[in-house]
Amino acid sequence: MTWERQHVWLGPETTSFEEPCEACLFARDSLAAETCVIHGTLRRDADVGFMTCRRGHRIVVHRIARPLARAL
Ligand SMILES: [Zn+2]
Repeated sequence: MTWERQHVWLGPETTSFEEPCEACLFARDSLAAETCVIHGTLRRDADVGFMTCRRGHRIVVHRIARPLARAL
């Protein structure tokens, strides 16, 4: 079974997060739940980032639209 990339969405001020890896949660047998958690960071000026959970699943981190301070 293959998994599409998972997506995590962060608010405008968020620079770090902890999210469960759904693929790990699905696949785990004897794994403790905490081993499925992804600890990630995203620079405040970055809109998207990529990371890999400790079991190799791909995670895409998105920053949701920030307030219109720099609007068109
Ligand atoms: Zn995973």
